Amino acid sequence: MRFNIFLIIFLITVSLSNSIQAQNDEDVEKVGDIFDNVLTQSSSYNWLHYLCKNIGHRIAGSPAGAAAVEYTRQMLDTMGCDKVWLQPVKVPYWTRGNIAECRIINSQIAGDIKLSACALGYSAATDIAGISAEVIEVKSVSELEKMSDDKVKGKIVFFNAPMDPTKVSTFSAYGEAGHQRTAGPRKAAEKGAVAALVRSLTLKADDIPHSGVTIFDEVQPIPALGLGIQSAERLSALLSKEKQLKVYIRLDCKKHKDQLTYNVIGEIKGSEFPDKIILIGGHIDSWDLGEGAHDDGAGCVQSMEVLHVFKRLGIKPRHTIRCVLFANEENGLKGGSTYADEAKNKGEKHVAAIESDGGGHTPRGFGMDAVPEILKDAYAKTQKFREILAPYGFYELVTGGSGADIGPLKNQNVVLFGYRPDSQRYFDFHHTENDVFESVHKRELELGAAGIASLVFLIDKYCF
Ligand SMILES: [Zn+2]
Repeated sequence: MRFNIFLIIFLITVSLSNSIQAQNDEDVEKVGDIFDNVLTQSSSYNWLHYLCKNIGHRIAGSPAGAAAVEYTRQMLDTMGCDKVWLQPVKVPYWTRGNIAECRIINSQIAGDIKLSACALGYSAATDIAGISAEVIEVKSVSELEKMSDDKVKGKIVFFNAPMDPTKVSTFSAYGEAGHQRTAGPRKAAEKGAVAALVRSLTLKADDIPHSGVTIFDEVQPIPALGLGIQSAERLSALLSKEKQLKVYIRLDCKKHKDQLTYNVIGEIKGSEFPDKIILIGGHIDSWDLGEGAHDDGAGCVQSMEVLHVFKRLGIKPRHTIRCVLFANEENGLKGGSTYADEAKNKGEKHVAAIESDGGGHTPRGFGMDAVPEILKDAYAKTQKFREILAPYGFYELVTGGSGADIGPLKNQNVVLFGYRPDSQRYFDFHHTENDVFESVHKRELELGAAGIASLVFLIDKYCF
């Protein structure tokens, strides 16, 4: 009798492990099919080409923004989604104009020197003749905060903290140094400065100026510019020798009234749980320099590709798979907040959301995030996917980081994932005129799309 019980337990264990192995083999095969299919039949690179070359940069609320909404809506519609629609989003609208003059005008050592600069998003214009003033350099917002208003009044504040090169993830370095761009000009304005210059957020030693949002809230905006790295270094070097150095600035940016734009949404209905949603997305808007190729045309076409490869392979998901191309990530996050509010009001249940907004470079893996009560369990449930995805270069499935647009869903108990490509070259292009189609590699883009589709496939099968 005793012997028989052991035998039964042994047989159950063997059959269970056989079935787990069979399931694992099936998953390995299916993920292989997804990669093979995307690497040979994907439309993502062509879509990106159209977005970049036929439409170009597309700040939210602009005519090009509207063209990008319509183009991606058509692409989702023609790939055979079960439902495609536009979700209205009211967005702030700002244009940089045509003038971005910035130069040192009274150096005893070097004379008149042109600085490579561009307006930051929501910068004010100067008056038509421009402005000139002395410059004070700081290495952080807190250094400025400690200064008396008298010292700052009437001056141009120059924020010159570099991104930390010792941080291997450039996103961590960006997160740290980014504060001087988002909050520095406001703090300078509060203290009576007439303008702000911000060292560009990049680790590349070129002289291309980087734009990006700066937030004034209720404070009256002042002219605020991103400075190329070489220009920032030169200004800093001269300032160390000539305290009375003056910079001249002329800008013709403009803040307009709010505009109506849309989140673009397409979905494949779930066969078992149509009311439970797995979301994938990127943001359709871009900064108004370059073509928004890495940021975030790549994330948009990868997200669209997930639905496309499911359709091509005839994969019938258990949950509803929804692709969302968010409006206004760059200068307001209105797309993400509108989406989350509406999901809450409608009682929609999202089980997971994945965002691709780290560029179109070679895949590394995924970060994940959720409220503490569910994060540990979600992390444990997804670790078995690493083994399946690692042969394709997706080695990371780690806690920490997701995406700005899906962030507002966190409090609705959604497990969030951020696609993580290699980050070393991302800030060579980010928010600059160099963020163009040619800077995205077809194969790297497609590997990313295939990996995201594979993660969606595995989540749909096993979680949450
Ligand atoms: Zn982005």
